[in-house]
Amino acid sequence: MARGGVCKDVIESHLKVLRHDLVMAKADKMSNITKNTNGATEKCKTSSTNGVYELLECPMCSKLMYPPIHQCPNGHTLCSNCKSRVQNSCPTCRSELGNIRCLALEKIAESLELPCRHQSLGCHDIFPYYSKPKHEQNCRFRPYNCPYAGSECTVRGDIPNLLAHLNNDHSVDIHDGCTFNHRYVKSNPHEVENATWMLTVFNCYGRQFCLHFEAYQLGMAPVYISFLRFMGEDTEAKNFSYSLEVGGYGRKLTWQGVPRSIRDSHQKIRDSQDGLVIPRKLALFFSGGNRKELKLRVIGHIWKEQ
Ligand SMILES: [Zn+2]
Ligand SMILES: [Zn+2]
Ligand SMILES: [Zn+2]
Ligand SMILES: [Zn+2]
Repeated sequence: MARGGVCKDVIESHLKVLRHDLVMAKADKMSNITKNTNGATEKCKTSSTNGVYELLECPMCSKLMYPPIHQCPNGHTLCSNCKSRVQNSCPTCRSELGNIRCLALEKIAESLELPCRHQSLGCHDIFPYYSKPKHEQNCRFRPYNCPYAGSECTVRGDIPNLLAHLNNDHSVDIHDGCTFNHRYVKSNPHEVENATWMLTVFNCYGRQFCLHFEAYQLGMAPVYISFLRFMGEDTEAKNFSYSLEVGGYGRKLTWQGVPRSIRDSHQKIRDSQDGLVIPRKLALFFSGGNRKELKLRVIGHIWKEQ
């Protein structure tokens, strides 16, 4: 009884090893993904020269295909998005497409593990083929949108690239220091529609913060808003706090807040009024003079929460 048990175990584990080797050999051939003997997945090398990876690219749109993957009677594959656009004619051989799923390819895809597409930006995780897109949407290494608010800028990148871009292409000043004293002057403060977008970047605790100052219409009332955004993830932004202060003639408005990640658009932050909101009447009062010119001094401070 006991002996039989031992024998069975040995055979089973031997079979397991065999099967494991076989699977590994196949996987190696298919995708260049290698696993070490502990089963831990090592950094893999996937390139466009990889056969299976190429098979999973839709021949029409070149995007990776996800179920349902279709094929024509001659075996040419097509993604479901393109299938709905080709009017039942295979784009490769022109024969009638019909409704044939390519289950084999779907199964092969299921067995693949691929690196995150943001590998070059620092993400070294690898994922099962089908859960990769979800990760990539939320990957913390995915590029950030340009934080400049005044234009329809489509530049994306990591923080060092965006800093260079802000400086070179938007002429944004980058200051060192965690306290600031910033003057905003505008000759025609009644032009709220042509909103003034101003952005200054502060280098503080080795991280970068965007100070926004904008004019906009809040309901019927023209207002100014100033707020801080953090050039990084929201989880890190929460480690910091900031204060803003504006005033004159014995009056003062102050705001204390938590910087928001630049993952949140400036418009989202502005619309939630998560910053120092200054009604125009008050802004003009602080500006003094004949109220024909906006002259505000915003004093601010950034600090790290313990
Ligand atoms: Zn396609
Ligand atoms: Zn075909
Ligand atoms: Zn990633
Ligand atoms: Zn830009």
